[in-house]
Amino acid sequence: MTDLLAPPSSARESWPTKQRLVVIGNGMAGARTVEEILSRNGAELFEITMFGDEPYGNYNRIMLSHVLSGEDSEADIFLNSLQWYADNAIDLHAGVRIERIDRFAKVVFGDDGSITPYDQLIIATGSRAFVPPTEGIYRPNGSMLPGVFSFRTLDDTRAMVEYARREDHHRAVVIGGGLLGLEAARGLQTHGVQVDVVHSGKHLMNAQLGRAGGEILRRSMAQLGVGVFTGTRVTEVWGPDRVRGVKLRDLTEIDCDLVVIAAGIRPNTDVATVSGFTVERAIVVDDQLRTVEDPSVFAVGECVQHRGEVYGLVAPLWEQAVVLADQITGANPAARYLGSRTATKLKVAGVEVASMGVAEPERDTDEHIVFSEPSRGVYKSVVVRDGKVIGATLLGDSSKVAFLQQAFDRGLPLPDERVELLFDLGGPTEDVGVAELADDAQVCNCNGVCKSTIVDTVKGGCKTVTGVMDATRAGKGCGSCKGLVAKLVEWAADGAVQEDPSIHWYVPGIPLDKPTLMAEIRERNLRSVAEVFAALAPGGAEDAKSKMGLASLLKMMWGSEAPDDREGRFINDRVHANIQKDGTFSVVPQMRGGVTTPEQLRRIADVAEKYDVPMVKLTGGQRIDLLGIKKEDLPAVWADLDMPSGYAYGKSFRTVKTCVGQEFCRFGTGDSTKLGIELETRLQGMEGPAKMKLAVSGCPRNCAESYVKDVGIVAIEGGRWEIYIGGAAGAHIRKGDLLCTVDDAETAKLLTGRFLQYYRENAKWLERTYAFVPRVGLEHIRAVVVTDSEGIAERLDAEVAKHAENHRDPWQDGKNPASPGQFRASLPLEVLPHVPKNRAEILLGGSW
Ligand SMILES: Cc1cc2nc3c(=O)[nH]c(=O)nc-3n(C[C@H](O)[C@H](O)[C@H](O)COP(=O)(O)OP(=O)(O)OC[C@H]3O[C@@H](n4cnc5c(N)ncnc54)[C@H](O)[C@@H]3O)c2cc1C
Ligand code: SF4
Repeated sequence: MTDLLAPPSSARESWPTKQRLVVIGNGMAGARTVEEILSRNGAELFEITMFGDEPYGNYNRIMLSHVLSGEDSEADIFLNSLQWYADNAIDLHAGVRIERIDRFAKVVFGDDGSITPYDQLIIATGSRAFVPPTEGIYRPNGSMLPGVFSFRTLDDTRAMVEYARREDHHRAVVIGGGLLGLEAARGLQTHGVQVDVVHSGKHLMNAQLGRAGGEILRRSMAQLGVGVFTGTRVTEVWGPDRVRGVKLRDLTEIDCDLVVIAAGIRPNTDVATVSGFTVERAIVVDDQLRTVEDPSVFAVGECVQHRGEVYGLVAPLWEQAVVLADQITGANPAARYLGSRTATKLKVAGVEVASMGVAEPERDTDEHIVFSEPSRGVYKSVVVRDGKVIGATLLGDSSKVAFLQQAFDRGLPLPDERVELLFDLGGPTEDVGVAELADDAQVCNCNGVCKSTIVDTVKGGCKTVTGVMDATRAGKGCGSCKGLVAKLVEWAADGAVQEDPSIHWYVPGIPLDKPTLMAEIRERNLRSVAEVFAALAPGGAEDAKSKMGLASLLKMMWGSEAPDDREGRFINDRVHANIQKDGTFSVVPQMRGGVTTPEQLRRIADVAEKYDVPMVKLTGGQRIDLLGIKKEDLPAVWADLDMPSGYAYGKSFRTVKTCVGQEFCRFGTGDSTKLGIELETRLQGMEGPAKMKLAVSGCPRNCAESYVKDVGIVAIEGGRWEIYIGGAAGAHIRKGDLLCTVDDAETAKLLTGRFLQYYRENAKWLERTYAFVPRVGLEHIRAVVVTDSEGIAERLDAEVAKHAENHRDPWQDGKNPASPGQFRASLPLEVLPHVPKNRAEILLGGSW
């Protein structure tokens, strides 16, 4: 009999074989669930579309505390790059909020007007900060009073850092003394702000700690300089234009410029509520993480209520992600999520905290083993009922956490000498604890890594701690589990654990640190990358990742005496221009100190017209960029420009930004333009471990942004100049350190060159000055560069002078190519988008 509902066979063949999986929320739970799905062959089963209302890829929210304190840059905390989504054919809509789900039509509606159909849907919308009702927080237009921040997203963190760094902002109040509040307090302190924490609970972190532990934490915080008010709350935030202070319930007033709200979270359930799903405290799901209404709609993470519980930590959501992936892919239809035992293992504001189960005894028969050493900030407490651990708190020393967690989770038999639960007295030692950990025991809570993953990685041949950390991400969150990871690696490697010496190497392929490598190169008179590999790499093996670093080092050491080792160069260095996403190049002629002439401008305009340049753009370094030049046109473009290269590519000295300075500006006390031009002339083309950007300002108003450059020079009264080093304002932001103040421009020029030469000789490959200066230490650099403590100043100066004398403009290659193929057109390896023609006209023709 014909099945009337079945499509005709030809149509059936053209049906998509994959189901459409849509995920709402690109946070820690959403992305982790997708990772788990992919690891179960999910790419074969689903076409995956993800929506996240934050305009980024997926980042580790836990690490926002590190971004706030400046320990990590924003780039460091991304878990999955945009490339990862592309590589896995995931259609990511970053910055799009889903407003409604129509579960009958099986579509979701985005705030960008999109309508996206699904076969299976996952809601992973997480939580938002809870703002306690407080007078004055909101202005009549509904926005928060300037200076009031919540602490949940990268945007919140960025805004907070910017505000805290302002010089007229000195004091902050954090509302909430839980994990988040204390992290915020410590983070703000690093920006020179004095911080008070106001907590409504009787003691700090009352969700995790008992009274005694909370009291010791308060002392630790006080020692760190954080003020703590407990058992009270902020009733009013005041300030006419921005925050000026807060009032507490007992009418105490605290003047402040910044208020951070870290008073708890509320699940994001709006989209589920308006779409008709059952929502109580959060979206209600069953043991398969399915919503009550619809078996094809799942929910995961902090937006979920399971068996009445709502979780606010990552460990439960890692467990949920595994079950959901097992279910949705059919990998294990029997998988069930039965709830999580919330054991917390964290580093809060630098203090180790581990807590599980109850914090204090509840029955008369409960045993309570306590050790307290307030002066060291150490507190350990274990609650035992009927011979089983039912709760433990470790503060300041979590060395026994592995055994205690295992005993708590699995009800292990306990030693008769209960004190052995707190200290190693020949009882259950750490090794025994590690051995006894179950395979699926979570070792790294931040990144959801369990024991078996670490052990498998070691058994797979990776026997160094850093190698295992890189491969698994374990220990790369708050860092509190690093000790345990190291012990596990040691145990799994059966004593054959190896120290990872590569952290000291200059490049990965040659096992030598930079000074030793340079000494070997000099002694053996090695002139090319190939010679270095042959002489110094294990088995003479060439390593692609090391070539650029070595080529740069040889160029630095031998200057013009080094043969031109083109093989070790990246395309930018081979053709002296910056490759763009469509395979064309951008060409930036030199404009020393940002100064040009009408004649030069005319020539640039003529070239732009002659070569049909799609975009002419001013750069941040005060130059003109011609974008969209074909590789084969480069020599002709340079010849027509008849200007030297501006070095807007490669790992080398780039430019000196200057302000107009004394010559024209009313405030100027120094001729910044002249000094900038002289510096650029002396340093042009200088190769380095990374790019080097400089600036000179004519007075402390600092219009050239000298404080955030690799070297920044600022004129001050009396004809003197301040020299700052190690500043940055790119992906990483850092104010430079004051190296010294000098009496004249000549000395400023000399010391700038000397510092850069010292940096070139001692920095690791790709290490910018903002990392080099803190690593080596300002005092040490000052001693070497300013007071010549090592007696090498003369040699460093001579190297700079030699460089200046031997400098040759690389665009001269245009007249005499280094190889026949140097400027030959080549097909891009992949199909690339095209820079639209006359992009400037399209942009500038737009309506206002
Ligand atoms: C500063 C900080 C420190 C922390 N430290 C720790 C710690 O040390 N240990 C620990 O265990 N936990 C910690 N946490 C908690 C941890 O980050 C959360 O448990 C975890 O991020 C929850 O993951 P999630 O995916 O459920 O939610 P989220 O990570 O919040 O992701 C949800 C995402 O969905 C987006 N979204 C919401 N609604 C929509 C919509 N309608 N359409 C599209 N997108 C939407 C949200 O904007 C968000 O990007 C910390 C949290 C913060 C903020
Ligand atoms: S830094 Fe000083 S001298 Fe230079 S432009 Fe600004 S105000 Fe004028």
